Amino acid sequence: MALKLTDELAPEGHERLVYAEDETSGLRAYICIHSTVYGPAAGGCRMWNYDSKADARQDVLRLANGMTSKNAMAGLELGGGKSVIIGDAKTDKSEDLFKSFGEAVHSLGGTYYTAEDVGISPKDMAIVARETPYAVGLDGGEHGSGDPSPFTAEGVFQCMKAGREALTGSSDLTGQRVLVQGLGHVGMSLAEKLHAAGAQLIVSDINTAALEIARADLGADICPTDAVFEADMDIFAPCALGGILTGDTATRLTASLVCGAANNQLATPDVAEVLRARNIQYLPDYVVNAGGIISVAGEIHKAGPGFREERLAGVALRIREVLAHSIQTGKTTIQVADEMVESILSRALATQKGAA
Ligand code: NAD
Repeated sequence: MALKLTDELAPEGHERLVYAEDETSGLRAYICIHSTVYGPAAGGCRMWNYDSKADARQDVLRLANGMTSKNAMAGLELGGGKSVIIGDAKTDKSEDLFKSFGEAVHSLGGTYYTAEDVGISPKDMAIVARETPYAVGLDGGEHGSGDPSPFTAEGVFQCMKAGREALTGSSDLTGQRVLVQGLGHVGMSLAEKLHAAGAQLIVSDINTAALEIARADLGADICPTDAVFEADMDIFAPCALGGILTGDTATRLTASLVCGAANNQLATPDVAEVLRARNIQYLPDYVVNAGGIISVAGEIHKAGPGFREERLAGVALRIREVLAHSIQTGKTTIQVADEMVESILSRALATQKGAA
């Protein structure tokens, strides 16, 4: 069977949802274009062993929506989209699988740009890029931006300092107990920066090899995965999974600041209120973790030198703005950030209408 693309009914607020399947290569993937109001949709491709097709569908819808907010807040002139490949990133990868995926992305005619996300490496993306110019985050080439993760980590690090400054008047992280949940591409890079800044690291992961590296090289204390929220910490940096802050975990969390890379950290919007009631400052994930897509955007726009550094510096500026508005208005940080996104998108829509 050749590649088969099926347009599914996208829920309200989402522009397009496509299911891509190819029995020969084994591809089963969703691509969601949430919004192209602010430009062509851009967002990474995740490979994950979902329990069901419905779980993959739900994940891609949530993640694509988040990309619209992230790209708007980072001022990237890109809309929001995301893709997920159903499969085990350790055992199910093949050249044919990524070629089929590239074909699927290409069939969307440039309305969606893909890049690396959880489970996908620049090597995988290079195969996708043989089938379509709409694959980015590539190593090499004139504009190749490579792995976005170090830039995500840098943005998170800068925001953490800005968050601490808003709380205490000092951005110094010396001696701060920071718990990094997830020592993958972003988490390990963040842990290295925190160690260099004099923070006291606590780390948690299901990957014992990564824990051992952090213990030996960065002097980190190891926290079991089921004891994260009770661990004594000043700052919580979620860099593994989404949905980890629930009414229950937010009530147990000992940190006074949450700043991490994971997408969709709040399981439900009302968790923001639980955190605020406990005086825990939550830095909205989609503002904090924009470094990677900023790096990728430079490749999409074929931007000159300076684009990435300039936009990356803007991430912490934006967080400062969100915190200042939140303190001034009494709104939660996520409410403030969402309102800023709405206003950016309304302006983009008005410009689009004006030009039509
Ligand atoms: P990754 O797959 O490299 O790392 C994830 C890490 O989390 C792995 O080490 C994994 O073992 C660990 N993990 C899994 N389950 C865990 C659990 N229950 N407890 C503790 N650790 C667990 O992914 P990444 O690229 O580092 O991304 C991390 C998060 O940041 C993801 O949510 C991703 O969507 C988000 N994000 C990443 C980027 C980027 O540039 N890579 C950009 C924006 C957002």
